[in-house]
Amino acid sequence: MKVLDKEFRVSIPEAEILKQVARVASEINRDYEGESPVFLAVLNGSFMFAADLLREITLPCEIHFVKLASYEGVNSTGKIHEILGLSVDITNRPVIIVEDIVDTGLTMAHMLETLEKHNPKSVNICTLLLKPEKLKVALDIKYRALEIPNDFILGYGLDYDQLGRNTRDIYTVVE
Ligand code: 5GP
Repeated sequence: MKVLDKEFRVSIPEAEILKQVARVASEINRDYEGESPVFLAVLNGSFMFAADLLREITLPCEIHFVKLASYEGVNSTGKIHEILGLSVDITNRPVIIVEDIVDTGLTMAHMLETLEKHNPKSVNICTLLLKPEKLKVALDIKYRALEIPNDFILGYGLDYDQLGRNTRDIYTVVE
């Protein structure tokens, strides 16, 4: 499949994705028994994963969608990260972040830091994909559907320059 200037091939077929999504959902159903978690899905990349994951969750739960804004700030660490659209009160509630892919881990590290300020009961990360070789920060990722090598991927919600989100399979760039 060609998207803009790059060629992609199927690397994870739909059946394998759905199998691993169901596995992660059953881990969450087991771990959160008796609780009512708040899922926070990070747009845009996680929309398809969130839909399939939530169909497998049997707990009483809520789902909310947030966006992350990242921009250069004037503080010493450089970037400022903000969670847009967090309209639900997560004080004293168990929160599960639903993310498309963890690469360096910086995005999730900043999100955790911001969420902690709202005093949730707990926060865990549930990611569709993880590139373990690229992880730069110590991050406790409790739920991961699939681990992948460093190559750039798209599909099943993930984009290349906003294109390619609408495929059932995941594709890897052909170098
Ligand atoms: P991190 O902060 O962990 O380095 O970056 C995470 C974000 O980078 C993801 O939410 C996603 O937007 C983007 N990203 C990292 N690797 C890929 C990839 O292979 N494909 C796509 N489409 N996005 C990626």
